[in-house]
Amino acid sequence: MSITSLKNLLDEARRNNTYVIGFVVQGWEDACSFVEAAQETDSGIILQSGPGFRKNMPLEVIYSMFEKLGKEANVKVVPHLDHGENYEICKKALDIGFTSIMYDGSKLPFEKNLEQSFKIYELTQKYNACLEVELGYVGYNDSSKNKMTSPEEVKLLTQQLPVTALAVSVGNTHLQNKNSAIIDYDLLAKINNVTNTPLVIHGGSGINPLDRMKMSKNYGVRKFNIGTEFRKMFGAVLREIFFKNDQIFDRFEIMKELNFALSTKAKKLLNDTNL
Ligand SMILES: [Zn+2]
Repeated sequence: MSITSLKNLLDEARRNNTYVIGFVVQGWEDACSFVEAAQETDSGIILQSGPGFRKNMPLEVIYSMFEKLGKEANVKVVPHLDHGENYEICKKALDIGFTSIMYDGSKLPFEKNLEQSFKIYELTQKYNACLEVELGYVGYNDSSKNKMTSPEEVKLLTQQLPVTALAVSVGNTHLQNKNSAIIDYDLLAKINNVTNTPLVIHGGSGINPLDRMKMSKNYGVRKFNIGTEFRKMFGAVLREIFFKNDQIFDRFEIMKELNFALSTKAKKLLNDTNL
């Protein structure tokens, strides 16, 4: 089916009253595992390149991987830049070929975030690309740093800017080891009441699967970013492989076992979107 736009996948999720998963990719092998899971469950997926991955691999190489996998897949794939922290990185991603970017101005005061988001929205229009922005702040590890999203700011931004998706902070936190986040459903309802823009939850690993479904069925959440569950699994399975077999050295042999574990988990997550 090949590469599609973020808007296309989110529209489809809205029609089916479900959500899509933004898989946080860290290498070739996990990207292959995610696409394999998508094909086996007949699901569209988003392959995301976050700041950590970009430090480790040039963005051009990352895009080529996503493009190759997307073009050859028989399901819809969106290559997405996650947490583009400034205009330059967003422009670079668009120049390379990304059809979907997230501009992250969440550390800025609202007015500044709005101003920057506006500039980047204009930029994405030139490339016919999709844009996700963030309001409020979704912290890392520590939920005490979170700044909840203000419905008033959501109204102001989405009335002026027809962005493709809006990341919100409603009790979700990045890098969670347990899916025990407590979601502020009253706040989420208020946000959903003032905008039709599909909502995005970063820190999806911290959200209980039943909450994920509830948030999409009744509160307009159409995308969950999921990375930590896979990072944890990657490290744990790798340790197990080495523990079981001290004569295993070949990268390809090691990765085969890892791929199986990652794609099995990805299939389970994708199947959960159809509950
Ligand atoms: Zn994030």
